[in-house]
Amino acid sequence: MTKRQLTIIGAGPAGLTAAIFGRRAGLDVLVLEKGMAGGQINITAGIENYPGFKLAGGMELGKIFREHAEKFGPEFMECSVESVSFRDGNKTVVTNKGTIETCALIIASGASFVKSGCKGEDEFAGRGVSYCAVCDGAFFTDAPVAVIGGGDSAVEEADYLARFASKVYVIHRGDEFRARKSVVDRALANPKIETVMNSVVEEIAGGDLVERVIARNGKSGKTREIPVDGVFVYVGSAPNLGFLTNESGVKRAGNGRIITDGKMETSVKGVFAAGDVREKYLRQVVTAAGDGATAAAAAGEYLSKIGTLPDLKQRQHITA
Ligand code: NAP
Repeated sequence: MTKRQLTIIGAGPAGLTAAIFGRRAGLDVLVLEKGMAGGQINITAGIENYPGFKLAGGMELGKIFREHAEKFGPEFMECSVESVSFRDGNKTVVTNKGTIETCALIIASGASFVKSGCKGEDEFAGRGVSYCAVCDGAFFTDAPVAVIGGGDSAVEEADYLARFASKVYVIHRGDEFRARKSVVDRALANPKIETVMNSVVEEIAGGDLVERVIARNGKSGKTREIPVDGVFVYVGSAPNLGFLTNESGVKRAGNGRIITDGKMETSVKGVFAAGDVREKYLRQVVTAAGDGATAAAAAGEYLSKIGTLPDLKQRQHITA
């Protein structure tokens, strides 16, 4: 068991910004991260709405965030968080590498893409079905692909895929896109992109590999077979909160995301949430970073109010 002042779950834009602000405020900061720091931006083709970067590669921006946080010396621990519990003011984080008692906690574990649920999606995963255009797009050079979804991710990634693919069908169940207008306008101007509106993909089919999608038009009821070699699913995301049970006392919205106040504090005192795990209006890199900054500042305020800043010299090593 180790005792820490501020523990941050997640090293995406929210968690890393919280680490920067926490360390600059003189706090002892431990950042827990399962995989590569950077979070979802690592699998985002390009980001052009983060101030200071007219167009940054997602992975490149993630690396810059990590290097920036490292400059201020938080401790990083590669581990998987298994559970958290908050009892009588004590905050316990159980990981696969040991247990941490923390005075304040920031949950910034991000979100992951969800499945569309159509027939064949699981069967052809890795054999033509993908959730990451940046990772797999180049495999479909000069081949037709489909993108399922109508949000920012679907339309932006369709535009990215058009660099490689011979044709990109964007299949959306609605009659207008949810994605921002600037993103839609650019995609629609691309002659390689064809939109298939009011249509739900009923099946992804093929032999060893994907060969076609079957989409039903909700208005006409007609089905259309579209020959494609790849299918990219971008139908939204769900928060990464497998470690957070109802018993924790942290209130969540109907979509599972954590409810916070303006200081990013959850319904449990001293527990904060930042970034895509949080219920909010706009989920962007820039708002994740803003959340992280606010959460760290509020955590610092909480720590000084409760006056339980541990003696850092007494920190113990993590034991399993
Ligand atoms: P999203 O905004 O939730 O959009 C999901 C899309 O998938 C919607 O068009 C939805 O249709 C459709 N959909 C949902 N379930 C479906 C199903 N089972 N079958 C077929 N279609 C389905 O998700 P997102 O695009 O991943 O974006 C998530 C968040 O990240 C958003 O807040 C977005 O603004 C943000 N984001 C920002 C950027 C950027 O700024 N660069 C890039 C990517 C994402 P309906 O519209 O009919 O509901």
